[in-house]
Amino acid sequence: MTSNREKKRIVTKGVRDLVSRGGWDTRRFESGTTGIVESARNEIRDAVVDALYSQAGLCRDCLDARQKTGDPTALCDRHMNEALGMT
Ligand SMILES: [Zn+2]
Repeated sequence: MTSNREKKRIVTKGVRDLVSRGGWDTRRFESGTTGIVESARNEIRDAVVDALYSQAGLCRDCLDARQKTGDPTALCDRHMNEALGMT
């Protein structure tokens, strides 16, 4: 029995591992046209966004970055690197 929370944690970890290994290539996902691939993409994107938000903690630099870019998910350099597992 795996809860949704646990699944999300596993997906998030998988994404972070992928990014940290430099194996992140969205074109691999783009080439798929099945609904399964589409829903997997959505799930991964949701997990990534959740992870970014939970790690960002709305620090001042992040808020600045959001204001400058107009992107509500923008992160400062430090938190972006953290989110990508590069610290
Ligand atoms: Zn920040």
